[in-house]
Amino acid sequence: MGESMGKKRANREVAQAVIQFLDQHLLDPSPANYAFAFLYITGSNGLLRKMVDDITDGGVRLTQGEVDDMIDSTSDDAGAGSPHNMDQLQDQLRRQALAFSDLTSAALSQATTFNQDLAEGMEQILAGFDLTAVITAMRERTAEVERKLAATQQETEQLRLELDTARNDASRDALTNLPNRRSMDAKIQESFGRCGSIAIAFCDIDHFKSINDRFGHAVGDRVLRAVAETLQTELTPYPVARFGGEEFVALFPEMSETEAFDLIEKARVAVSEKTFRLRDTDQPLGRVTFSAGVATTSSNPQQALKDADGALYQAKNSGRDRTVCHLTPTIAA
Ligand code: GH3
Ligand code: MG
Ligand code: MG
Repeated sequence: MGESMGKKRANREVAQAVIQFLDQHLLDPSPANYAFAFLYITGSNGLLRKMVDDITDGGVRLTQGEVDDMIDSTSDDAGAGSPHNMDQLQDQLRRQALAFSDLTSAALSQATTFNQDLAEGMEQILAGFDLTAVITAMRERTAEVERKLAATQQETEQLRLELDTARNDASRDALTNLPNRRSMDAKIQESFGRCGSIAIAFCDIDHFKSINDRFGHAVGDRVLRAVAETLQTELTPYPVARFGGEEFVALFPEMSETEAFDLIEKARVAVSEKTFRLRDTDQPLGRVTFSAGVATTSSNPQQALKDADGALYQAKNSGRDRTVCHLTPTIAA
């Protein structure tokens, strides 16, 4: 009896919140809008809830058009295949993937703290503390970090798969529309098989994390798109792929290290000369630069990738915003 009264009260509260939501956004009390607001209020559709919160962040009102789009994109069959809805879904999933990858970094740094705790634990043991208690505490801590990492990794992988499936194009990167890593790996193999010698360049945006930290992920995304576009324009007709987060790989069949180096330098200068501004305030973001490593091979394409990555590492260590060659130690900034 008490339980059923409580349930009734809860139902009434939900209904009131639904009406309040419709009022607040000046939406007609149509059945579709009711259902939409109900899903939002009860939180039974997480994707929809996040979409609404993203749009209304900072007190912005929803429009009927936005509601219709969301109804389409979150229902099972309606709207499937519509590019607009697909884009929204991809964006959503990509942002989630990003949040998870940041979580992984946080968990890793927790593992570093654990190392310090280990040292402290040793001191406590040496000082005669209860050995069992110290070891038990440490084991719990490790298990927790491991659990978090495993869960994060699994969810990230799942999201990546969903992204590929949602786009129905497993060879392109959803954000930049460049070929992705998988398809670049295939291009490298194919090109090497055909030509017998290739040059590879690894490019990595400098201090990209700080762009995200200062201006947010959405601005970071726009920077990634702009860098991708400039690389593609400058390096045409050679293929460029988004290899990972802020990393790009370019492939130059039958080219020497110096020739590839000259092309990458041209692209590097083009990116560093671009002016990036915040859309709303026109505030400049400051220079966006990348570092690059170049390598060639006539025997093993995987080794060329490793060598180019090694040269990139040197470029980062010698000041960033420069290109380094693996064999002929040409360095430019
Ligand atoms: P470095 O000069 O040493 O390369 O520093 P960095 O900050 O560029 O490198 P780091 O590896 O520390 O950070 C890369 C960041 O890129 C972390 C991650 O959150 C971000 N990132 C990865 N993928 C995306 C994406 O798709 N969008 C946005 N906005 N950020 C991304
Ligand atoms: Mg990187
Ligand atoms: Mg970087």
